[in-house]
Amino acid sequence: MIPVVALVGRPNVGKSTLFNRLTRTRDALVADYPGLTRDRKYGRAFLSGYEFIVVDTGGIDGTEEGIETKMAEQSLAAIEEADVVLFLCDARAGLTAADMAIAQHLRSREKTTFVVANKVDGIDADSACAEFWSLGLGEVYQMAAAQGRGVTNMIEYALAPYAEALGVNRDGEEEEATDLREYTEEEAEAEQARLQAQPIKLAIIGKPNVGKSTLTNRILGEERVVVYDAPGTTRDSIYIPMERDGQDYVIIDTAGVRRRSKVYEAVEKFSVIKTLKAVEDANVVLLVIDAREGIAEQDLGLLGFVLNAGRALVIAVNKWDGIDQGVKDRVKSELDRRLGFIDFARIHFISALHGTGVGHLFESIEEAYESATRRVGTSMLTRIMQMAQDDHQPPLINGRRVKLKYAHAGGYNPPIVVVHGNQVSKLPDSYKRYMMNYFRKSLKVVGTPIQLRFQEGD
Ligand code: GDP
Ligand code: GDP
Repeated sequence: MIPVVALVGRPNVGKSTLFNRLTRTRDALVADYPGLTRDRKYGRAFLSGYEFIVVDTGGIDGTEEGIETKMAEQSLAAIEEADVVLFLCDARAGLTAADMAIAQHLRSREKTTFVVANKVDGIDADSACAEFWSLGLGEVYQMAAAQGRGVTNMIEYALAPYAEALGVNRDGEEEEATDLREYTEEEAEAEQARLQAQPIKLAIIGKPNVGKSTLTNRILGEERVVVYDAPGTTRDSIYIPMERDGQDYVIIDTAGVRRRSKVYEAVEKFSVIKTLKAVEDANVVLLVIDAREGIAEQDLGLLGFVLNAGRALVIAVNKWDGIDQGVKDRVKSELDRRLGFIDFARIHFISALHGTGVGHLFESIEEAYESATRRVGTSMLTRIMQMAQDDHQPPLINGRRVKLKYAHAGGYNPPIVVVHGNQVSKLPDSYKRYMMNYFRKSLKVVGTPIQLRFQEGD
């Protein structure tokens, strides 16, 4: 399972600087997400081969007394759900009472915590950091987030226990997720058949009260109440195997429909981190939106994460029963306006309560999975790339025309296409987008984003 790293500390120590550095998009064009570029508190990070969820817990206002009670509820919850806490302090400002109060809280939680003294640039770091030892949380790591100094070392150290689970190689070298093998059409077909014979991991997500539990129950069939005793903490989603029309599924239940025990019901309500973990682990995400509420910021935040993770996506607009035509029209125009940019995902209007439209969801879920696991050989991808290039020449850069040479697959879920050529790194985004859309249309990919990567030379 993907680890969750929480950034904790008083305001102004550099949490958001570090957050931005960790979540900065990779050199891959996924798609354009207008409206989703503002800072997010939850991010998906990829550094030095490590993949993790990073949470900026927001500033804890340590000038208050009684940190336990005054700490924002969200920050506390994030600390509880995190696997690793990075406790940031300001090496320039020195140790403060607020730092000590936060440290005391962290010590009481017995969380895996690393003290990070930030802003060590341009100062005598060793002497500035010495006093942070008195926090009683062990070694003090030096960092300058703004310059990126010490960030990679820090993450490699903090996440070393997860290296094996995440498939990071021993030298700590960046291991590209891209599978660079080249496939003939026959090999691609065999690989695709293998993938598509596996169960589809389907995460049902959405903000509170949109109808996730109702929908999950509807999908599972009310009669099939099973008590699950799967390993994992109570804060993880529950995995429920299911078969439908000959297709195997594993439903990732974020709503806690099948709770392990009544005791945990109180803590089991909606959790962003649980949802994000479910997204990471899913093949296909079913995002549930409440028709009566319209599209909320929280919906867009979850959506952004799904897109960033490259997951296949189906959207269910729920509670479509008992609302009049005026409301329906309003919801539809809002969808167009705010979700128009995710043109790849199918949208269904359903009533989980009455079961209307639920069956059809599965047609789109299967279609999305099929697209996400599509394997295409090198010759076909190169042919499509060539056609795109012939239809619309890449621009001249420094008086030389960008030349695309060949393309091959680089992974699935999401499908990745790697394009090789000269000066490709200088291609404008508009041309990259054109290419991506050309691949999408030619391969009839529906329900999943495509990633395009460009590689210089042969
Ligand atoms: P947050 O409130 O903890 O999220 O802190 P910010 O990330 O907003 O940073 C607060 C201020 O410290 C900003 O002006 C940053 O530019 C600055 N800052 C962050 N990291 C460093 C660093 O490594 N060195 C220096 N000199 N300044 C930094
Ligand atoms: P969750 O928090 O996302 O799991 O949401 P729930 O499944 O608990 O549903 C929240 C509320 O919405 C409950 O009162 C449900 O009965 C109601 N609800 C769920 N689906 C529908 C639906 O399709 N139509 C209507 N009218 N109400 C629904």
